[in-house]
Amino acid sequence: MDRIDALVIGAGVVGLACARALARAGREVLVVEAAATIGSGISSRNSEVIHAGLYYEPGSRKARHCVRGRELLYAYCAERGVAHRRCGKLVVATRDEEAPALHAIGERAAASGAHGLRALSAAEARAMEPALSCTAALWSPHTGIVDSHGLMLALQGDAEAAGALFALRTQVLGASLIDAGGGRVETRSADGEVLTLQAQAIVNAAGLDAPRLARAMHGFPPAQVPAAHFAKGSYFALAGRAPFSRLIYPVPEPGGLGVHLTLDLGGQAKFGPDVEWVEAPDYDVDPQRAGRFAAAIRRYWPGLPEGALQPAYAGVRPKLHGPGGHADFAIAGPREHGALGIVQLFGIESPGLTGALSIAEDVTRLVCGEPPTIT
Ligand SMILES: Cc1cc2nc3c(=O)[nH]c(=O)nc-3n(C[C@H](O)[C@H](O)[C@H](O)COP(=O)(O)OP(=O)(O)OC[C@H]3O[C@@H](n4cnc5c(N)ncnc54)[C@H](O)[C@@H]3O)c2cc1C
Repeated sequence: MDRIDALVIGAGVVGLACARALARAGREVLVVEAAATIGSGISSRNSEVIHAGLYYEPGSRKARHCVRGRELLYAYCAERGVAHRRCGKLVVATRDEEAPALHAIGERAAASGAHGLRALSAAEARAMEPALSCTAALWSPHTGIVDSHGLMLALQGDAEAAGALFALRTQVLGASLIDAGGGRVETRSADGEVLTLQAQAIVNAAGLDAPRLARAMHGFPPAQVPAAHFAKGSYFALAGRAPFSRLIYPVPEPGGLGVHLTLDLGGQAKFGPDVEWVEAPDYDVDPQRAGRFAAAIRRYWPGLPEGALQPAYAGVRPKLHGPGGHADFAIAGPREHGALGIVQLFGIESPGLTGALSIAEDVTRLVCGEPPTIT
């Protein structure tokens, strides 16, 4: 049976960042990915925004990994030549009644360490973005956008340069944990071959599938596995030129950040994601949703032309609660669940892209038996 130091399950942005960090810490790493390519899960179906850290409960893992991860990410993109732009964003109130919510975001952001925010009057916001309609705004200069696929390729390249190996089209079926640490892991390749390998450490970075997979790890306490909930978010692309040069967000809605406008690095605008609770992940965009999108968008951009929204793509958030609840990232090491060498990553929704490098630092510490920096 093959033996390795660390098995990372899943080659999304989080698994890739973990593989890179573990390999650079001297571990022999194997990444097992069910799909044919890296980064084809949640990591390829998001807004590609580098969040500044405005929305999360101060002191939470989301807040701290976002703020730390954002700085690590900007530095990494600069160092590795990953395309990105610190374009900034405006969070806008479109009715006077939304002013308290906007104020609360500013307070929360400051308490989380997301510095540099500035409250703007409607006139100041319109001076920055003349097409905008709002009653007040919050300017976040450290929000940005990143080429997520470029980022993931760079992470994979670093991991491989440090010795990590990748097995694509290979699914982890389950594992039997070993008291001394890690476990025997069963995998199945695309041609149906089932192999067992032994890993001293296992990092479950399987995204939407992480809870199901944790339940297939015999010896892992089932009570430590959260129920999985799925909140789909659809996007519509704007046909034509973007009227804004910064990202525009309304005040958040329950379960998501509201139908916001993001730009890609080519300047193309897209709107979304909305929030639709689903039983199982699906990625169809219902063109009928365009009407609701248009109504939400016209609150801050009355000039949206008729028929300009085109169904684009959808992503699914790995939630740890149903509608109305809140949950932090669950980054569970042996201290939490008692299984030596096992790190489970549950509920890594937004800002997981922003926080990936910071999450990977802590996963590496957990694998090395050290306490995480962000508890
Ligand atoms: C709609 C939406 C918008 C978002 N916008 C942003 C944003 O703007 N900024 C931000 O910071 N974050 C954002 N996020 C969050 C961010 O995209 C995620 O936190 C991040 O991509 C999660 O990465 P991951 O590696 O954990 O999961 P994934 O990318 O899903 O990777 C998991 C991988 O595991 C593989 N896998 C699953 N099961 C198995 C198995 N049994 N064996 C082998 N492989 C397996 C899958 O194929 C997949 O490739 C958004 C998320 C959504 C859904």
